[in-house]
Amino acid sequence: MTVQFYRHGLTSDDADSVAAVLDTPFLTSGSVGKSVEAKISSYLGVEHSFLTNSWTNGALAVLLAMGVKPGDEVIVPAMTFIATANVAELLGATVKFVDVDYDTLLVKACDVECLISDKTKAIFVVHLYGQMCDMESFKALKARYPQVKIIEDAAHCFEGTRDGYRPGTWSDAAIFSFYATKNVTCGEGGAIVTRDAELAESIQKTRLHGMSAGAADRFKRGEYRHWDMECLGVKANLPDILAGLLPRQIDQVDDKLLTRQKIAARYREAFADLPVRMAKLSLGVSSAEHLFPISVPALARDEVISALNHRGIQVAVNYRAITELSYYRNKYDIPPETVAVSVEWGSGTISLPLYPSMPKEDQSAVIQAVSEIVES
Ligand SMILES: *Cc1c(COP(=O)(O)O)cnc(C)c1O
Repeated sequence: MTVQFYRHGLTSDDADSVAAVLDTPFLTSGSVGKSVEAKISSYLGVEHSFLTNSWTNGALAVLLAMGVKPGDEVIVPAMTFIATANVAELLGATVKFVDVDYDTLLVKACDVECLISDKTKAIFVVHLYGQMCDMESFKALKARYPQVKIIEDAAHCFEGTRDGYRPGTWSDAAIFSFYATKNVTCGEGGAIVTRDAELAESIQKTRLHGMSAGAADRFKRGEYRHWDMECLGVKANLPDILAGLLPRQIDQVDDKLLTRQKIAARYREAFADLPVRMAKLSLGVSSAEHLFPISVPALARDEVISALNHRGIQVAVNYRAITELSYYRNKYDIPPETVAVSVEWGSGTISLPLYPSMPKEDQSAVIQAVSEIVES
């Protein structure tokens, strides 16, 4: 038997949405993309939305729009996917690593505050595994340091909420990923949302070479108009062919969230008395339950992975602490004890299969295997 780690929810029915794009005049950043941006804005309740071809390129566009440059500092949790730190590195900024909370694995405003200096330009607040960080505390932090930009890495959390608010509500910008394994996906893609009109105007340019107007806009009035390049930008716009895959998933995302939450709740209950650690959910959170990681003692982790694989259960590791990876270790040499929670969690964590169409018997097999393996 094989229990797959993940299966996307797209089918050949979605081909119709792609075919419909072929009848429109612009295959990229055209009318379909615009309508999907409006849909994202309305789902999240945030005025400005920009589709991007990945979270990573979207984040580069955001950092460029914020003027991040060599010598600036960007604060990043040590427990996240590498992309969160890489985008700051690519722009020549210095990454300052912050540890995460032991119970929730989320970054806390009070820990970030200790790292703020007069060089700090931005902070990435990562809604790890789908659980939103306490954004009200980051809003309070922002009030004390108005020059520091707060950016939500919401790659795991499109549909999650905290105390009723969504990503994009209390930050300068939130960035999403529609990568192949994310809760909403078009294979590769992403989105940026912001409430800040001035920042939105800059992102409009940094998302597309720094140009003053995209092709669809240049031809809008039926006559050619010159464009200018006003700043340096990346090529981060999303083709409409991919954007066309998103509306149906956004319509279904709340129903699928209930299914994800049921699956996650069944894991939590089944493992409650086992010697494994799980991320705790804070009160008031509705987690997007993007991943279901457990943690076992570091020395046993690879053995547990092998034993699960041996039973046909596919798993993943999300994530080893960024500071432990060769590039960052060579460059920064961060003492593990300064990001101890991230390092410990990262050396023991295993992500179990979780996706909305996961058969119940597959989950039963995972639960039985984990229980037998960690108890022996
Ligand atoms: C997937 C992911 C990213 C990068 O997303 P891409 O769309 O692949 O660029 C960034 N941050 C986190 C936390 C992620 O999981």
